[in-house]
Amino acid sequence: MRGSEAKGDTAILVLGGTGEANDLMRALRERWPRRRLILSLAGRTTAPVVPDAVEIRSGGFGGAAGLAAFLAAERIGLLLDATHPFAAGIARNAAKAADQANIARLKLLRPPWQPGPGDRWVEVSCLGDACDALPPGARPFLALGRQHLQPFTRRLDLLPLARMIEPPEPPLPDSWTLRLARPAPDAASEAQLMRTHGITHLVTRNAGGSASYAKVEAARTLALPVIMIARPPAPDGPVVATVDAMVEAVAGGSVG
Ligand code: NAP
Repeated sequence: MRGSEAKGDTAILVLGGTGEANDLMRALRERWPRRRLILSLAGRTTAPVVPDAVEIRSGGFGGAAGLAAFLAAERIGLLLDATHPFAAGIARNAAKAADQANIARLKLLRPPWQPGPGDRWVEVSCLGDACDALPPGARPFLALGRQHLQPFTRRLDLLPLARMIEPPEPPLPDSWTLRLARPAPDAASEAQLMRTHGITHLVTRNAGGSASYAKVEAARTLALPVIMIARPPAPDGPVVATVDAMVEAVAGGSVG
C-alpha cells in the first residue's frame, strides 16, 4: 500500500452517498478535530442527510482524470471510498485516480448477505437475469431504487410493487404499484407490506449491512423466494469491512 508515510496535515477525501460514509465522517472528525475532511456526494438526492463539521462537495468529477485533478488541486493525501457496493463506476474511478495522483486509497465494503436456514434465494448476476427469473404472472416486490426498474417494464405479465425514496422518471406502467418510502427498519413491517400487496417474490440487490436487511428477513418469514442480485466486482486494492476498521487503518498509519 502506498502513501503510508505520515501525512497528518493533508486532507482526506471520502467518497460517500451511504450511511456508512456519514458515520465514517463523524468518526474521523472525532479522532482528528482539525484535519481537513471533505465528503463527496454524487448529487443525485435532493436533500441528502449529511454529517456536521465536514466540508461537502457535490456532483461528478468528470471521470477518473477529473477526480485525479481534484485530488491534486485540493492536496488530498488519502482517498477513502465509502460508496455503495453497487456503485461500481466511482469505485473504478477512485482506484485509477489514486494511482494517477500517487496517493493511498482504501475501500470500505461491508460483507454481502449470506443465505441462511429458511432462505429461498435464486442468485443472479444482473437486473436482466433477475427479470428472467420471475415466473409468468408474478407479483414481485422490486426493492431496487428508481434507476434500476427499467428492465422489468418489458414484462407486461408482472404486477410489481416498487418502492423508492424519490418519484421515478419516466413514470411507471399503470399496472405497477408505487410506494414512495424508505425501507422499513423491522421485518414485521416489511412482512406486512408484502402480505398487503400479495407479493410472490422479493427482488433485491445484495447490498449487505443491516439498514435494508429487514425485507430479506421478512421474505424468509413468509417463505417467499428472493431473487438476489450479486454485486459487481470491486477494484483490486485494500478493503476493510467496517467504519471502525477504516478509522483504525488511518490512525495506525497503514494508510494515509
Ligand atoms: P456509479 O454508477 O458508480 O457512479 C456514476 C458516476 O456518478 C461516477 O462516475 C461519478 O461521476 C458520479 N459519482 C458517484 N458517486 C460519487 C460521489 N460519491 N462523489 C462524486 N461523484 C460521484 O454510482 P451510482 O451507483 O450511480 O451511485 C451514485 C451515488 O449514490 C454513490 O455515491 C453511491 O455511494 C450512492 N448510492 C448508490 C447506491 C446504489 O445502489 N448504486 C445505493 C445507495 C447509495 P464522474 O465520473 O463524473 O466523477
